[in-house]
Amino acid sequence: MSRPALGGAWPTARTHLAGVIGDPVRHSISPALHNAAFDALGLDWAYLAFTVAAGNASAAIAAARVLAMEGLSVTMPHKRDVASLVDRLSPTATALGAVNTVVRQGGELVGDNTDGAGFVDALRFDEGFEPEGRRCLVVGGGGAARAVAHALACAGASEVIVVNRSVAAAQHAADLAGVRGRVGTIEEASSVDLVVNATPIGMALASTASIHGAAALVDVPAVPLDLDLLRPGQLVADLVYHPPVTALVLGARSRGIAACNGLGMLVHQAAHASRLWTGLDPPKEVMSAAALAALARAEAVD
Ligand code: NAP
Repeated sequence: MSRPALGGAWPTARTHLAGVIGDPVRHSISPALHNAAFDALGLDWAYLAFTVAAGNASAAIAAARVLAMEGLSVTMPHKRDVASLVDRLSPTATALGAVNTVVRQGGELVGDNTDGAGFVDALRFDEGFEPEGRRCLVVGGGGAARAVAHALACAGASEVIVVNRSVAAAQHAADLAGVRGRVGTIEEASSVDLVVNATPIGMALASTASIHGAAALVDVPAVPLDLDLLRPGQLVADLVYHPPVTALVLGARSRGIAACNGLGMLVHQAAHASRLWTGLDPPKEVMSAAALAALARAEAVD
């Protein structure tokens, strides 16, 4: 194996290690994204995926310490557990009580959360949507909804309305948006500037089953809200990216409404993580191309 920018055999005894822990992770396109970034930056770094079963986050973090791993991405089901296993938390990870990125700083492991910043970057840089002063509605009340609600409020959104099947979860997400957050009704989607789908509704069935379990396949609607509630001039942001064009994205676009999938968020949160680990700004277009290629391969498998 070789890494063109480094020349010769690779990896070597000096190669730095980063990776993702989660279960499932065999579907993850994060290795494609991060290795493409390391390659483009000419870094002697490698990024691998590690299947770590629920309850084993503590052992995985201990291993990361012993192996002096440079960086770790954390995905389901470990984001909350890892928040209590690192030495320090960033302000965002403290607010969310969840970690998606672990950074080694000296002898310490610092937990951060780049999901919300990645989402806002995707809005700003890929969609030309500035959240400041805008009214936003988030459908969902899980980890992604909490990160998005918090980030939209931090970015200056005038209102963050959260709608979810379980009202308690919606309230938790809305609380993270502070005074601008509240639980609302789905009908309010017709009057906001931004509608976000932060539920798994619309995911490819194979992905839904592998990530959220077989029970999640029962009575799954095709879209998270009635498409007739949408209005031209709005932006619809689906956090789902597999398939690349969900029924929500397709339905919005067919009504002349701008819509994007979750790939931009995935790329930008990974870019934040890469920057935290290496101190270098990774080329987002290279990461984006790697993500699209990996997704096309996944589509071929499904
Ligand atoms: P999660 O913590 O499991 O939360 C899922 C939320 O969706 C819950 O609030 C749940 O409602 C709701 N929900 C699930 N199935 C539903 C259904 N059939 N009808 C109505 N509501 C339903 O998951 P998550 O981590 O927040 O992730 C949510 C989605 O975002 C997933 O598709 C994930 O892949 C995607 N995501 C994308 C990115 C990215 O970078 N693009 C990052 C993170 C997540 P209850 O509270 O009532 O159970």
